[in-house]
Amino acid sequence: MRRSDFVLALFVSLLIGGSVLASDEPAPSKPIKQASAKEEASASGTPSFISASAKEEAKAASKALRGGRESKAEKAERLKEEQAAAELAEKVAEKMALIRKERAARPVVRTYAPPIRRPDSPDFKPKTATSAIKPANSSVTDEAHMAAVHWSYEGEAGPESWGKLSPANAKCDLGERQSPIDIRDGIRVDLDPLSFDYKASQFSVIDNGHTIQVNMGAGNYINVSGRSYGLVQFHFHKPSEERINGRGSEMVLHLVHRDGSGKLAVVALLVERGKANALIQSVWNNLPLEKNESVNALSNMDLSQLIPKGRDYYTYMGSLTTPPCTEGVLWLVMKENIEMSPEQIFIFSRLYPMNARPIQKQAGRLIKESN
Ligand SMILES: [Zn+2]
Repeated sequence: MRRSDFVLALFVSLLIGGSVLASDEPAPSKPIKQASAKEEASASGTPSFISASAKEEAKAASKALRGGRESKAEKAERLKEEQAAAELAEKVAEKMALIRKERAARPVVRTYAPPIRRPDSPDFKPKTATSAIKPANSSVTDEAHMAAVHWSYEGEAGPESWGKLSPANAKCDLGERQSPIDIRDGIRVDLDPLSFDYKASQFSVIDNGHTIQVNMGAGNYINVSGRSYGLVQFHFHKPSEERINGRGSEMVLHLVHRDGSGKLAVVALLVERGKANALIQSVWNNLPLEKNESVNALSNMDLSQLIPKGRDYYTYMGSLTTPPCTEGVLWLVMKENIEMSPEQIFIFSRLYPMNARPIQKQAGRLIKESN
């Protein structure tokens, strides 16, 4: 191959390669590598490997020629070609430098999934070595964390818009089994007993931008209808999302559980004004100073002390009450309230004065309640 042909081929292949690299389209499987410091540095100068290989080729060719006889005309031809090769290499280098410069100026295209916040995201895991608290079930859907896009309880990103904010939230608009509901006209039956198998566990507290959430260590279960669900987290709403015969409560705690197959069961504890609640106080004591920063409590929490003595409950099938409003959630709403002091309620209302989704249509769903 003639040297100029070789360099031309090199030039073309580099241009093709260079334009692929410079493309905004991410490669289907391989993530686009962010320009390293080394690449950044070489972008400003001449990429050494290009000119080096071109020069080497020219040098090798010239050496081979010198070995044989070389006429004056041949020598002139060779020198001309060497010069052309050098010029071409220079042009390639310039073009490459330009491509790299453009790449550096563009925003980095990330190939990983959109920012859906998963339970295994950093805010779900303990951050410091001192805390070995792991969420009881790391693959659970995190009620308040599933939305890929910003949402809120009022304004443009409020509940009426949740379904339009993302295709993933379609159920918020179109679902027929949404929560919360006004619980009324339930049929009174002998419901399966709801048993709580809770014990002292490590916990961490996070302000996720929608509520205060407490992530619980493993080992807490509820058992109902022959099925066992592990407690993952609980969080607060003000006022209560659910109503009983049209009446709302000051606040509600949602204890989110998940079974081995991924089915969710949420226990709702309605809150009324009353005595200070020691267990809630331990949550408030560990409130993080910053949003999305998890605080690992130094003490354990025994949630069995939180559950009211009366175990009667209402039950119906509903959804998560935050985007993406996933359905198929078993709701267990305890009939007996728990209490929090006015000061304790005030502390939450300073952070979240209103974080309740409006009441959804019952749509002929069956509600059962303990006799
Ligand atoms: Zn909730």
